[in-house]
Amino acid sequence: MTGYKTVIGLETHAELNTKTKIFCSCKNEFGSLPNTNVCPVCLGLPGALPVLNKAVVEYAVRMGLALNCTINRVSSLVRKNYFYPDLPKAYQISQSELPLCVNGYVDFWYDGEVRRVRINRIHIEEDAGKLIHSETGEDVSYIDLNRCGVPLIEIVSEPDICSSGEAVAYLKTLRSILKYLDICDCKMQEGSIRCDVNVSLCAQGEPLGTRCEMKNVNSFSAVGRAIEYEAARQHQLLDKGEIVQQQTRRWDDIRGVSFVMRTKENAEDYRYFPEPDIPPFEISQARIDELAQTVPELANKKVIRYVTVFGISEKEAAYIAEDMKLAQFFDDCVSSGRHTPKSYCVWIMGELVKYLNSTAKSFEQTALTVSGMNDMLDAVSKGVISVSAAKRVFEVLLEKQTPVSTVIKELGLAQISSSEELERIGKQVISQNEKSVQDYRRGKTNALGYLVGQCMKATNGKADPVRMKDIILSLLAQ
Ligand SMILES: [Zn+2]
Repeated sequence: MTGYKTVIGLETHAELNTKTKIFCSCKNEFGSLPNTNVCPVCLGLPGALPVLNKAVVEYAVRMGLALNCTINRVSSLVRKNYFYPDLPKAYQISQSELPLCVNGYVDFWYDGEVRRVRINRIHIEEDAGKLIHSETGEDVSYIDLNRCGVPLIEIVSEPDICSSGEAVAYLKTLRSILKYLDICDCKMQEGSIRCDVNVSLCAQGEPLGTRCEMKNVNSFSAVGRAIEYEAARQHQLLDKGEIVQQQTRRWDDIRGVSFVMRTKENAEDYRYFPEPDIPPFEISQARIDELAQTVPELANKKVIRYVTVFGISEKEAAYIAEDMKLAQFFDDCVSSGRHTPKSYCVWIMGELVKYLNSTAKSFEQTALTVSGMNDMLDAVSKGVISVSAAKRVFEVLLEKQTPVSTVIKELGLAQISSSEELERIGKQVISQNEKSVQDYRRGKTNALGYLVGQCMKATNGKADPVRMKDIILSLLAQ
């Protein structure tokens, strides 16, 4: 797409996994029977008073700290007024002027470089209920209000994203951070992360064009497709000399198109006003400092460190960092200093990934330890076992914690180290393969490979093929 730059901003909603809802003590749980986790507060019955859940504030502050935000020590809630059948109160309690977190940024590795997307704000708010449209042809819709009052954070980025691929990388980064902080289930299929996508085009050097917003795009790949579609649609309009209208559009991922929901929507339409039942609330600097201590080194920072310091690829780094337990294991291996980061990475990305995929286990469910990994690599580098034997040892180490030396002994995998033994095998193979010996003497060099192969077969792969070849050569020269 020439002539125009695509400008993308994302508003990402994440459901927080607190035990209870944001303003009442109802269970915050996915999958309960419809309309069972409800009470007068989350049903919006007259006279019911909301009480702010402290855990929601603290979860949001941790996310703010992870995204390098300034935390507003005094923050306030507002009512956002609109009608929809899934919102019994006809308003949503949210934040406007004084959100909890502002002015942050997130760095992540994308397409061979570190990208930075600025974070405008993170605020807390309540979710609405869910409409369930009948699938049996009845002309009715059902409503489940269990989700009313489920705590959400909304993470609003600045329009710093330039492509669909970068948008997806940004979202994956947010997901990895939510997982590391353990504040969200991150199950897209259950709607625990949802996204509003703002797209505009601008000519080089011109101010931002008119943006269109696509609501509730609910998978990362759909976000990518919605952006591609919207950028192409706006590009066509501009090429025809038409103008892009500010619109809210709905993305239909099955048909691969978006269509207009409403045009021009302004903040005034929602008649925001301060929530009268909950006064502005304060969080102390001491508590913010304590919460900062609970933020670990995050996946996005690990990826940058792995690529730049350890020299492994972006893809390998992203895979390892995605799983906090695996990343910890990798870091512990490297800091043991017994082998190179690359040699650990080869086993993780090869045999470990194969095992995890075939067993549908997570790394945490394996028995692999740092010392087991190191002892196995030692056995290979000292020539005690071959690489193919090491793969069998590794399989055992994934299943149970056994000393590597015991596994080697039990499986009979130790390479034959005695020269006399190797010579005896060599002599035996030569005497049994006279034709190959003659072929070799007539100049057919590949007969040598065949003879070495026969030796490997005779030892069940326990001979060192390089030493075996030398021995065969010296026997043939006699
Ligand atoms: Zn409730």
